[in-house]
Amino acid sequence: MKTLLINNANILSFQDGFVQGNADAVLIEGGKFKAIGKKEELEQLIHQQTVIVNAAGKTLMPGLNDSHIHIWKVGNLRTFMLDVRAAKSLDEMLSMIHTYHMQYPDVAWITARGFNEAAWKEGRMPDKNDLDKVVKNKPVYVIRTCAHIAVANSKALEICKVDKDTLVPEGGVMYTDNSGYPNGLFSETALGLIANHLPAYTKEELKIMVRSAREQLYSLGITAATDPAVDPLLLQAYHEMSLAGELCFRLNAMPIILPDGGNTPFPVPDGYTSSFFNINTVKFFSDGGLSGKTSALKRYYKGTKEQGVLRLKAAQYAQLCTAAMSKGLGIGTHAIGDAAIEFVIDQYKALRRVFPDNLLKIEHLGLPDQKHLEDMANYHIAASMQTIFLSELGKNFIRYLDQDYLNRCYPVKSVLQHGILTALSSDAPVVKDLNPFKGIETAVTRKDNEGNSIAPQEAITIQEALKAYTSSAATISAVSAIGEVAVGKYADFILLNQNPLETAPDKLSSIQVEETYVDGNCVFKK
Ligand SMILES: [Zn+2]
Repeated sequence: MKTLLINNANILSFQDGFVQGNADAVLIEGGKFKAIGKKEELEQLIHQQTVIVNAAGKTLMPGLNDSHIHIWKVGNLRTFMLDVRAAKSLDEMLSMIHTYHMQYPDVAWITARGFNEAAWKEGRMPDKNDLDKVVKNKPVYVIRTCAHIAVANSKALEICKVDKDTLVPEGGVMYTDNSGYPNGLFSETALGLIANHLPAYTKEELKIMVRSAREQLYSLGITAATDPAVDPLLLQAYHEMSLAGELCFRLNAMPIILPDGGNTPFPVPDGYTSSFFNINTVKFFSDGGLSGKTSALKRYYKGTKEQGVLRLKAAQYAQLCTAAMSKGLGIGTHAIGDAAIEFVIDQYKALRRVFPDNLLKIEHLGLPDQKHLEDMANYHIAASMQTIFLSELGKNFIRYLDQDYLNRCYPVKSVLQHGILTALSSDAPVVKDLNPFKGIETAVTRKDNEGNSIAPQEAITIQEALKAYTSSAATISAVSAIGEVAVGKYADFILLNQNPLETAPDKLSSIQVEETYVDGNCVFKK
């Protein structure tokens, strides 16, 4: 059997105490760790065909696990969709769209993603008139960085037959100008008014996106991920890739049950377990995002009369959760604002009484209060959080949240102190820089990209942050054979140029992944 010995490594095992004795070598056989120990001991176990790699003092740790990342969308921005996340102004975004329009005259719809008006010098939302200035004769649809708001040009409104008399779905907003006509902006479930008319991607196109995203994941040391919003076609694409042996990273898929802009639920899928592909949790959205003021708050956003949007109907949500949990599945619900978190926890408490063992988790958990955290601990509700938001979206939080909210924004330390199972992740492409070490850095420094501190008392240690991107991420995804360098676990690991435990907090994001291994095979080398 193929064996691999890696020696002279500084090993962070992530078992108790992080460092395992004075081990400096690992032996891998059949894609799993077979032994961990001193080089001299493990050399007794090798044979002629064993491949030996000298790590030359590099740090070896488990592969990183991004437990909330929209993989196909990350790939889409590398393939079929225009990425406008780098635009520093509305004008710059418009010129990017214009250039794309000239470059690709044959695309039927121009789709783009990634604007953040809070980062623009104009500081306002775009509308249809802005887009019409650069593209008139072809539909344009631009999704905000949060994916909970989008803007369309006049041609798109015309094709989708959206006008002032259009019936707006519950849980969504169609924004209008002074005379009551749609101004091109939509949020939450109302996105479907336009999005449902976009030419659907084929399964093959989805696979191209996934392959493209995977290359980026490897380069960042990510060997496992959870896609937290998978529709039936994407589920099929993932499944086929896994059966064909071409997934090549550990993927946990969370099927969505309620589609945007539609009221008919998708069927609840069966659970599925294999070495590379798992389905064990279904996904719901209870509110929107903080950076665009669509998360549901109990109080107003600073200086406004806005409180965001609650999207779920309690009875339907309870019924669909019960159907999924009866099949043994877990539930993950997107909830960011305190009103949404409370709504979800109330439902979860009732479900927990009937289903003592199923996984219940809250995706994001942006603004919980003390009582919420106590309930989560008592009812075994896990949290999947994103400190990485602080870096790119911190300016939005500072702008839209009052001091009390800001003080408990993504309060990871408080969550951990309550004993709540917590993983960290990127939610990319909501953020452009999905480097897990950036997420770890912001968890430890609590600083945005301009150096502003956000709730600094909620900083956690480097060890805690690393755990939240590896072993806790494995636990929360219910994929137990990964997340540690331990005998019997899959040999998914990375070699780093620097030991994170000995790196200054504000330099963590500069750590380089030198090599990435999945199943004991090197899949990326710098
Ligand atoms: Zn997300």
